[in-house]
Amino acid sequence: MLLALSSVMNLSHIASCGKALFGFPNRPLVGNLRTLTLLSFSSSQCCSSSCRMFPPSKDLDGLLPLTRKTQKPGLRRWEEARSFSILATQATATNSKQSLFFADAGIQRATELRTDSAWLASAFSRKDALVVPMIGMKNMVNSGKAVYISPSSLPGIGHGDAIFLGLSEDKLPIFVVNVEDLSSTDEVKEALDKGAEWVDVKKYGPSLSAYEAGLLAYARGMIEWHSRHQHCGRCGSKMEMSEAGHSLKCTNSDSCGRLSYPRMDPAVIMLVTCGNYILLGRQARWDLGRYSLLAGFVEIGETFEMAVARETKEEAGVTVESDSVRYESSQPWPFPSSLMVGFHCAAVKNKCEPYNGLEAHGDAVPVGIERVPEVDEVNALPRPAVDVHELEDAKWIHRTFLNAVLLGEPLPHGQVFNVPGNYAIANRLMQSWVKAENARDVQWAGSEVPTVDIDEGTFKYVLINIEDDQGHQKLLVRGRKALPYHSDIFEQTRKSLKELGLNLQVSQLGGGRIDHNPDQRTLLVYSSSQAFGQADHTVTSALLRQAYALHTFTISWDP
Ligand SMILES: [Zn+2]
Repeated sequence: MLLALSSVMNLSHIASCGKALFGFPNRPLVGNLRTLTLLSFSSSQCCSSSCRMFPPSKDLDGLLPLTRKTQKPGLRRWEEARSFSILATQATATNSKQSLFFADAGIQRATELRTDSAWLASAFSRKDALVVPMIGMKNMVNSGKAVYISPSSLPGIGHGDAIFLGLSEDKLPIFVVNVEDLSSTDEVKEALDKGAEWVDVKKYGPSLSAYEAGLLAYARGMIEWHSRHQHCGRCGSKMEMSEAGHSLKCTNSDSCGRLSYPRMDPAVIMLVTCGNYILLGRQARWDLGRYSLLAGFVEIGETFEMAVARETKEEAGVTVESDSVRYESSQPWPFPSSLMVGFHCAAVKNKCEPYNGLEAHGDAVPVGIERVPEVDEVNALPRPAVDVHELEDAKWIHRTFLNAVLLGEPLPHGQVFNVPGNYAIANRLMQSWVKAENARDVQWAGSEVPTVDIDEGTFKYVLINIEDDQGHQKLLVRGRKALPYHSDIFEQTRKSLKELGLNLQVSQLGGGRIDHNPDQRTLLVYSSSQAFGQADHTVTSALLRQAYALHTFTISWDP
């Protein structure tokens, strides 16, 4: 096992260090008959000295305006989807400027009126005052809209029994009342007869407007707080409403009289990145393929930044760069009383072992590519070590893959993978990151050519380099079950790029075979090409990993 691990790290370094990468077209890089699992080591097994890291391939200064490209005929489905991904992400990200769901967009809280009994009494007697009815923790809705009732329809309820939420956009006073004992009133019955239903707004929220989702969540949070604080936490006496429901006062006025206010529980939610990869986790009870950002509650005596680092380490075993934690945005999550505070931070990169055996392969044949940042990036990913009490799994997901997921594009070979919808801060944080990173990509003729396009089953593959006359360059993996020779695959790729009108230099960097089992989610990269020599399967695997997020990768150097 140790031998295998050390071989992986040596290979990793070959892949990340200079011209030696593609220097051995006709021989394996290390001894034959050795099958290795990609990245099957933890960072703690590596030596402390870092290998030479190359700068990223993308030109950070080269921001170009993104324009819609004409759809090119002949692109496969994955390719078609990708062609529009950047533009569509821009559009989605524009939507993210809207208020987050469950925030009270547009409500004036009018806090100064909470202690004005005369005004509250007058407001509650208005015919146009709005009451948000609740039963337990359920809100009333009808066909994607909140249902309101009038205060006069609630027998025996005065303004002292209702919680004042604030003023609507039209300056109408809004209250929330628990109508559990009043559900037989005419107005409630009438609403139900017209198709209204009692729903959990946490689930139903995305069907509502942002304004109403925020209002109903606010109403529910207040009702829930009241239901949990009916007795004094100090002396156990009954509590009574004050400040229009925004505080509760202990009725034991002689020896206690404690005041209690609604409190939020701050929870951090973090977008942890490592280069172009993002750390996502899933809980066992979630739907198939659902992944999201890591999150957790802030503990007493902690800063947000500390909580981000602690939770990431506890849940996924990943260490966060201490000075990288940056606030992004927040979202109320009053189910019952959380405030999600969103951060972006960077993981401490894995350090690979310096390679010291390059001279043993002295007859390297340079093929014009001096570095493969995609391999550096995969090697830099710290291996998640999941806390099984909290998570079932944690994975590093490539930006290209996440982009497709956020856009709802079909994933290659029916991979099932999804993230929370855009009502959730997790989604907004991901959208924001993908958009910002996409904007940094230098656009050139090869930008929209998909990196990976392979079949399933067992087939030959070719590692291909494309570049333009400006020095932009990209590697592709192409594998076809129907084509018997590596040269057929290469020629077909060259021909299709030409048909798309892309003026690119296309060259092969060796070949091999792939066993691809989508059901088992496995990819084995092995063998070589008689005509082209053996491709660097480490590079191939790093590229495949971008498109097959949940697969297990295995490399064999057996020719
Ligand atoms: Zn008390």
